[in-house]
Amino acid sequence: MDAAATAATATAAAAMVWFRKGLRVHDNPALDAARRGGAAARLYPVFVLDPRYLRPDQAAPSPGSARAGVARVRFLLESLSDLDARLRRLGSRLLLLRARDDGDVACTVCAALKDWNIGKLCFESDTEPYALARDKKVMDFAAASGIDVFSPVSHTLFDPAEIIEKNGGRPPMTYQSFVAIAGEPPEPIMEEYSELPPVGDTGEYELLPVPRVEELGYGDISQEDLSPFRGGETEALKRMRESLHDKEWVAKFEKPKGDPSAFLKPATTVLSPYLKFGCLSSRYFYHCIQDVYRSTKKHTNPPVSLTGQLLWRDFFYTVAFGTPNFDQMKGNKICKQIPWTENEELFPAWRDGRTGYPWIDAIMIQLRKWGWMHHLARHSVACFLTRGDLFIHWEKGRDVFERLLIDSDWAINNGNWMWLSCSSFFYQYHRIYSPTSFGKKYDPNGNYIRHFIPVLKDMPKEYIYEPWTAPLSIQKKANCIIGKDYPKPVVDHAIASKECKKMMGEAYASNRLDDDKPDKGKSSNSSRRKLSAGSQVTPNSSKTKQLKRSS
Ligand code: FAD
Repeated sequence: MDAAATAATATAAAAMVWFRKGLRVHDNPALDAARRGGAAARLYPVFVLDPRYLRPDQAAPSPGSARAGVARVRFLLESLSDLDARLRRLGSRLLLLRARDDGDVACTVCAALKDWNIGKLCFESDTEPYALARDKKVMDFAAASGIDVFSPVSHTLFDPAEIIEKNGGRPPMTYQSFVAIAGEPPEPIMEEYSELPPVGDTGEYELLPVPRVEELGYGDISQEDLSPFRGGETEALKRMRESLHDKEWVAKFEKPKGDPSAFLKPATTVLSPYLKFGCLSSRYFYHCIQDVYRSTKKHTNPPVSLTGQLLWRDFFYTVAFGTPNFDQMKGNKICKQIPWTENEELFPAWRDGRTGYPWIDAIMIQLRKWGWMHHLARHSVACFLTRGDLFIHWEKGRDVFERLLIDSDWAINNGNWMWLSCSSFFYQYHRIYSPTSFGKKYDPNGNYIRHFIPVLKDMPKEYIYEPWTAPLSIQKKANCIIGKDYPKPVVDHAIASKECKKMMGEAYASNRLDDDKPDKGKSSNSSRRKLSAGSQVTPNSSKTKQLKRSS
């Protein structure tokens, strides 16, 4: 065989593993399949930087792109660096490419498939609408070019499509019915590799080093505002092992009992950003929790247990995948139609942590700086924006979370915003989080507020949750004049929450009337009844008892 023929045989055996989420080596079925090419194989591990998420937007309310704040961009870049380092240890490396324009990621991948003569393409299946459209383009190209495609489901415990099929073609709309159908997830791949096939020739391609966030043109990024959570598989595995090391904590984990104000040592695992980017496999995490359960006498159960949290994640993925227009109110069958308002003063005040309610503002500042807050803290601010106080559209709040959270996740974020705004899944709109007394129960001294809003650090604890009630002399002593150094409350909670309940009542009544219209079939009514029944078992069922009824 001449040299050209030998080269052709070698390159014909080449495989590409295209990383998107799933930024890990462990339990990665796409990588596992791509590496099995035989002795002559070449493996091209690729990631394409997507301008849709990375292009700087000077008009954005905080540094970053239009769709991602710096904290998440940094987390992604750290995850890519770590993946590259882990691949290099196995004799490979990450091939980092740049897409030129929005929507160009698919073109970049297709060009590389052709230029590198790839015979097999492996990538993790992704159920988000943007990803589905992108991946279809690549799959169509691969089919037309005779390239084998392997696209396993490994971002979630279960395959959402399979669950929907088992449920007669519709997603299960309650957690219990989801859990009953789901059964046990597949085992993770436990094999540890000692090496990976060598990387093939990349020809003319410009391979980028993983950039640092400072190099992406987002302007001045304050070093004080750094999220304490570092990206990458190495950090994910370390964090998971540290969390699971305390077996008693794992066995007794009850989500609603966690303290949302704990920030130095959060009350939950903070593994969500690692699960979001796939630095941690949810199946591997699930498997490791089961190992802990086997070694303890008794443990809590779903929905409140730690495995119960992973099942919530899969629940939202399944409903999201099976619900057209899941990310909007209009045209979304599971979402109540509510006449939310727009408000150009109140919305930015909420977004930027300037509502005058320190508990709400501290949470929004933690979001902007850290990109992560405890689940019940998210409850507080989502309720405040929507049905609790401001009556602003949940989609507006969803956008802010989507941009700033480091764990920003299309299915989970939309699902939880519908939940908190009583638009779907949960309907007890008369139960409203108090923006003053809810946080106080956990943190009477207001340490959380003092940390994230330094201007309030010397406010006596009696006034820290309601600083506008402090006499002027106390405000002066604390170096914080309300209305000057820190805002007055943008609404009176007692009045606003009452008004919100009234509007929710009216909206619910008009949704019922709509349901009774002749063009609405019986099925939509019965599915609504099923939804209500399901809302009895929630991660916050015991928490709802703690909610103050505002009056
Ligand atoms: P743990 O309690 O340690 O749970 C372990 C894992 O289970 C989490 O990492 C997460 O993957 C999953 N999980 C936990 N709670 C939920 C839940 N309620 N729904 C679905 N999965 C869950 N979570 C996101 O990952 N991305 C989002 O964009 C997101 N947006 C949210 C928006 C709102 C309005 C609310 C109320 C919640 C949102 N959540 C979101 C859910 C939840 O708050 C976070 O998953 C959780 O706080 C992450 O912290 P943790 O990893 O310490 O959770």
